Amino acid sequence: MTTTTAVRHWHVATGLVGYGPDGADGYGTAIELTDVADLIRDELRQAADSEDEGSRSEAEAADFSEAWKLKTRAEHLSILAETFSNDRANAPLYAGKPEMWADTIETLIRQHFPLDISDRSRLYVWPCAEPGCEHLADLER
Ligand SMILES: [Zn+2]
Repeated sequence: MTTTTAVRHWHVATGLVGYGPDGADGYGTAIELTDVADLIRDELRQAADSEDEGSRSEAEAADFSEAWKLKTRAEHLSILAETFSNDRANAPLYAGKPEMWADTIETLIRQHFPLDISDRSRLYVWPCAEPGCEHLADLER
């Protein structure tokens, strides 16, 4: 692709709290909102699993207030992950109206991110229209 016009796309990245996504290990990149929803769902599920594991370790170490905090966050992340499930596009409300589901995804993104997914990390989701954004190349592989 040699075009210089900006392709509007989205990034999903986990960074340290307070540092923004610059320090992220890698960026998820997608153009279609349904693909962004998949990336978000994966990240949230992973984060939920990790917090859930953490809560078990804390409980074993008898730090029950920390265990409760992590368990609660794990449940919240898990519910939010399902909110981004593309299966919802088949619900009567969205059936036959893919653009309405896409609008809902965008609204959900604006409502929920950036989001603390652990004590140290935050999930960032943002639109990018940078011409020649290096991450767009990831999509062509
Ligand atoms: Zn970009």
